[in-house]
Amino acid sequence: MGTGVGLRPEDKKGVLILLILLTSVAINCTPEPPAPTMTVPPPTPIPSPEPTATPSPTATITLLPTATATPLPTPTPLSPPTVEVEPLPVRQGSIAVLRLRGGDLWAADGSFQGQAIKFVRGAGSFWAIVAVSPVSPPGQHQVIVRGHRTQGAEFQATVPLTVTEASFVVDSVELPPDRVELLDPAVVEEERRKLSQVFARPAGDKQWRGTFIMPVVGEVTSPFGARRSYNGSPPTGYHEGLDLGAPEGEEVTAANGGVVALARSLKVRGNAVIIDHGVNVFSGYYHLSQVTVTEGQQVKRGEVIGRVGETGLATGPHLHWEMRIGEVFVKPEDWLEREIGE
Ligand SMILES: [Zn+2]
Repeated sequence: MGTGVGLRPEDKKGVLILLILLTSVAINCTPEPPAPTMTVPPPTPIPSPEPTATPSPTATITLLPTATATPLPTPTPLSPPTVEVEPLPVRQGSIAVLRLRGGDLWAADGSFQGQAIKFVRGAGSFWAIVAVSPVSPPGQHQVIVRGHRTQGAEFQATVPLTVTEASFVVDSVELPPDRVELLDPAVVEEERRKLSQVFARPAGDKQWRGTFIMPVVGEVTSPFGARRSYNGSPPTGYHEGLDLGAPEGEEVTAANGGVVALARSLKVRGNAVIIDHGVNVFSGYYHLSQVTVTEGQQVKRGEVIGRVGETGLATGPHLHWEMRIGEVFVKPEDWLEREIGE
């Protein structure tokens, strides 16, 4: 014999009255309901998760058998987000800003030419930087965008993006014999793998302000994107940054604010500093004679981070300054000329 929790007839009556009362509450909360009837209860529909996801005054009433007599108000469907890309077209080695506005998004992601696009939340939008590699073929390309919504179906869009040709010179570099080993693909690859971990960090909020500044005053000795020929060989790669010739020991400053993501000695890049500016934007400063910051340190635009040198794959004192969006190198001068992002 267990202790029963069944209702006595008089209790059942009480429940019925309560149900009717609750139904009345539901009716009062619902604009223009049809008159409910207790005699012919309609089949109970399975409530759709979408309309009931947002709490509404009648949402809890669906638990009662009689409540289905009162149709739930249909929530006004939210329109999907709008996609904005500017500027268009984009030159090889340059960037565009992509924004998703509205559409009840809680997150977004996407890809372009096999690279992940990392979105961050801004004022009234999610935004990201789409980077075009200097070796991207010119022509029509597509950005894949996915928006994750709190209501409604996931949002997906294919955004056309036209890439125009930029002209790049060919640079011939004569390397002294003691540095030729730094061209060994195994050495180059090992260092690239090490750095990939830095650029795989999740994108944080924007930490730069205004335009970027030149990290050192000096003459451009090798431009960004130049096809590189070493010791007379056919060009095998391209120059990933901008070389600025400056005397050994000259101060090198942060091009803008951010967090020091890397500060250490590397074989090819020499003594190196990489700053994470948020939104998947990084700046790199290589061949330094001295590094004066540590990993994890917050730096401001114009703050000294090291000194000019010729460590690693260098033929004289200079600063190699590069800008990259994740794994894609972009033209540093673009960041000096216009304020990027919101
Ligand atoms: Zn360089």
